[in-house]
Amino acid sequence: MVYDPNNIFAKILRGEIPCDKVYEDDHALAFKDINPQRPVHVLVIPKGEYVSMDDFSHNAADAEIAGMMRAIGHVARELGVADSGYRILANHGSDGNQEVPHFHVHIFGGANCGPMVKRM
Ligand code: AMP
Repeated sequence: MVYDPNNIFAKILRGEIPCDKVYEDDHALAFKDINPQRPVHVLVIPKGEYVSMDDFSHNAADAEIAGMMRAIGHVARELGVADSGYRILANHGSDGNQEVPHFHVHIFGGANCGPMVKRM
């Protein structure tokens, strides 16, 4: 899948639309989800143009991948959910119900996250 530079997270990265930023470094940006599913619901996105987990894991440089993982852990600690617990989730493609075609990891916390996935 070709990266769409007009996706909403690309616009956030370019500063064309606002976000409720919680963290930023060379590799990643984290901001509050506009439609929170838990008291804590933050999205962490890489700054590079990657459509999905598949694209990111295959094509990103090791430093970008390390940067994302470090950022996710850092943000969870900053948000105060490292001790109480949290869930990270990345939807990929159609069966994953991915809505925004820029790779992102959700951090959910502040309340129990329930079963891992809805039963079939
Ligand atoms: P996904 O289904 O994993 O692609 O989830 C996309 C997420 O992006 C959803 O949880 C949306 O609520 C969230 N979202 C969409 N637009 C924005 C925005 N402008 N700012 C923050 N979060 C957004």
